[in-house]
Amino acid sequence: MDIARRDLLLSAAALTVGASGIARAAPDRPLGYAIVGLGTYGLGVIIPQFANCTHSRLAAVVSGDPAKAQRVAAEHGLPARSVYSYANFDSIRDNPDVDIVYVCLPNSMHAEYTIRAAKAGKHVMCEKPMAVSVAECEAMIAACKRANRKLMIGYRCHFEPFNLEAMRLARSGAAGKIRYVRTEHGFTQGSPSAWRLKRALAGGGSLMDMGVYSLQAARYMTGEEPIAVTARESTDRRDPRFTEVEDMIEWTLEFPSGAIAGCQSMYSANQNHILLMGDKGRIELEPATRYDGNHMWTGRDGREREVTPPAGPAKTQFAGQLDHLAQCVRSGAEPIVSGEEGLRDMRIVEAIYRSAREGRTIRLDGRA
Ligand code: NDP
Repeated sequence: MDIARRDLLLSAAALTVGASGIARAAPDRPLGYAIVGLGTYGLGVIIPQFANCTHSRLAAVVSGDPAKAQRVAAEHGLPARSVYSYANFDSIRDNPDVDIVYVCLPNSMHAEYTIRAAKAGKHVMCEKPMAVSVAECEAMIAACKRANRKLMIGYRCHFEPFNLEAMRLARSGAAGKIRYVRTEHGFTQGSPSAWRLKRALAGGGSLMDMGVYSLQAARYMTGEEPIAVTARESTDRRDPRFTEVEDMIEWTLEFPSGAIAGCQSMYSANQNHILLMGDKGRIELEPATRYDGNHMWTGRDGREREVTPPAGPAKTQFAGQLDHLAQCVRSGAEPIVSGEEGLRDMRIVEAIYRSAREGRTIRLDGRA
């Protein structure tokens, strides 16, 4: 991830929208999103966020449940022709209202729907994890390149004011030279029948879900790419929830500067924490990456000062994310969290699993 470029693009986005929220050069119309998968996130979190957007609007829904899809379409004033099933999804190519397809499906379906969307001539926002393997991520990037369409990953924390302020503070040297980072994310999984606990749909356990936040945070907070990873896993295989995927996994990333990140994810307890320790102080967030209610402190020895970050240019992190891709489509710029960024994470995810399996450090910098 190119932090300097990201900062530039974020300030460009802020300038375009302006403090008043009014675009300087108003686009013809907000770009239309089709939401694929009307579940907890697509329906419960993303669709209501279009009310907070300036450059994006809901234009279509794609679902395996026709009654739900028709109800949602009616609630949002969508015409019948903008309701799709998974079977007729490809005909979305003929819908001029849809510019961007947002894939909010179980992880193992991300690659298929991203590639189908690109072939239908649509830009793509794909939820995290980008896919369930490096090979899938590469195929998604290639499909979008071939179709000359944008691909962005739903890494909402890059638009979240606490995380942005922590990144800014870390880069400004407020905590000195960053020596150590801790990132921990988890929640208590309930039902053993959840798709997140099925390898075929999730691709893995807590690492594929909450672990992506821990991994991402270690990278965007340090602004460095890891050169080596050492991991170990702990899962009670007698627990009916964990017959197919891991519960807890812990990994250490080594960075070129000498900084080390201790990262962790789990499905058997709730946690949401980021700690940066520099040689002049610390920056701590807890909760760190929630939808709202995040908190941040700075200090030398502990949580001495609570920090309230400045409001971002967007009303919410979700609106910032949705509008960012719409603005990239309009301007031709690359999204700050493109498919390549998802691919970088997936390369590390594969190395984490390999390290845990083989009980050794895996180099990520090509050295033996
Ligand atoms: P849900 O299970 O709540 O919803 C997934 C939806 O996908 C279902 O409602 C269904 O929609 C559709 N679907 C199609 N095939 C299947 C299948 N075989 N099994 C289950 N669902 C299927 O999951 P979430 O909404 O929580 O997660 C979806 C994606 O979003 C995941 O990749 C997850 O990692 C990501 N996510 C990201 C978050 C973030 O903060 N960025 C937060 C939460 C999730 P329908 O009935 O319409 O067909």
